[in-house]
Amino acid sequence: MIVCKFGGTSVASAEQIQKVANIVKSNPARKIVAVSAPGKRSGDDIKVTDLLINLAMAALKNEDIEGELQIVVHRFKAIADGLALDHTICDVIAEDLRERVQGDKSNEELFIDSIKAAGEDNNAKLIATYFNSIGMPARYVSPKDGLVVNDLPERTYALPEAYANLAHLKCTKEIIVFPGFFGYTKAGILRTFDRGGSDITGSILAAAVEAELYENFTDVDCVFSANPKVVNDPVEIKEITYREMRELSYAGFSVFHDEALMPVYKIGVPVNIKNTNNPSAPGTRIVPRRSVTGRPVTGISADSGFSTLYVSKYLMNREVGFGRKLLQILEDENISYEHTPSGLDDISVIMRSNQITLENEERILSRVKNELNADDVQMRHGFSMIVIVGEGMRNNTGLAARAATAISKTGANIEMINQGSSEVSLVFGVLQEFENQILQALYEEFFAHVRV
Ligand code: ASP
Repeated sequence: MIVCKFGGTSVASAEQIQKVANIVKSNPARKIVAVSAPGKRSGDDIKVTDLLINLAMAALKNEDIEGELQIVVHRFKAIADGLALDHTICDVIAEDLRERVQGDKSNEELFIDSIKAAGEDNNAKLIATYFNSIGMPARYVSPKDGLVVNDLPERTYALPEAYANLAHLKCTKEIIVFPGFFGYTKAGILRTFDRGGSDITGSILAAAVEAELYENFTDVDCVFSANPKVVNDPVEIKEITYREMRELSYAGFSVFHDEALMPVYKIGVPVNIKNTNNPSAPGTRIVPRRSVTGRPVTGISADSGFSTLYVSKYLMNREVGFGRKLLQILEDENISYEHTPSGLDDISVIMRSNQITLENEERILSRVKNELNADDVQMRHGFSMIVIVGEGMRNNTGLAARAATAISKTGANIEMINQGSSEVSLVFGVLQEFENQILQALYEEFFAHVRV
């Protein structure tokens, strides 16, 4: 059995949904189909999920919601018309939106979640109706039937029992059309995953039914070895391990949601990223293991928007519990971190800048200074992390030197280096104004001339 997931652009219009039907029809193993809400039809279009967020905000502000609601209904109506479905489906969608808008507003986050999820939910119903109308027996299944998620306040994730609950879908005779992006708590409250989270739903379904393959259909032929917006014509990645993909989860690799790796990784279901607009292209396979041949480096990714908390204290290395106390201060501020490079007497904690405010920065600096008696504490902003990843890097000497030399030629100073313990990744912290130049220089070094 194959579980396939179709992203927003793959289900953005009637024409795209017809392509989806052809893809599903062309392989009888494609029995479970997870769908996103209609995404952008062109560059300046608005995703249905964003339209729904506007609707939710208008409802929260007690503004007139009818205009916002009709915009969403019209998007679905255009799709239904293009697929020659009768209009009752649009009445059902309008009714559903009205009901959601009337829902409990006491918790704003949950209220927004329930409206946001209407894009996927209604699209799944519409697509199941369409499949049936063209003679493909299909059934909409709601996440209410088993996709149980945790309660607030933690970010949404599927509870272990979700997998057992959904396992029976394996025996389906019809094609199951399942909305992506959300689940229900044990108490029956709807919660959405992070943006782009339909990938996660597909992965949960693939793991639950122990699929032979999870196909993730999007609008690019494959994952590239570097961000094509920065590097000219980067090499395509044909095969990549889960671990490599995880390490590369910064910009340029967002084609597949990083949280979506976990469910399939646990039981080893391979993932194939494919293009709805070019389904015969082989795409990129994400696999548990692969034989390492050719280049040592598989991909290079980069992201900006990082801050570093630098702390130095003489004899830090002899002070039991120093690291724990430092990280506790960040935990108290609900801040997660990405890397912690350290020396004998100093340590830096690297985190996403969007978690830091003027107030919590001041509290953190004063607590580190006073409670840990640090000699020096500084918070610095405006960093990028550049990550070089490859299973072949473990057995390759001189790779860090090559990377550092390439970076130095751009004139940038390397503020931090961190080699992941698995030795399949090497991270460089640099000032963010150098990010693109460095990405190009590293790509040139590791991909333009194969020197292995
Ligand atoms: N529709 C949601 C979003 O725009 C989830 C998804 O498409 O995966 O983020």
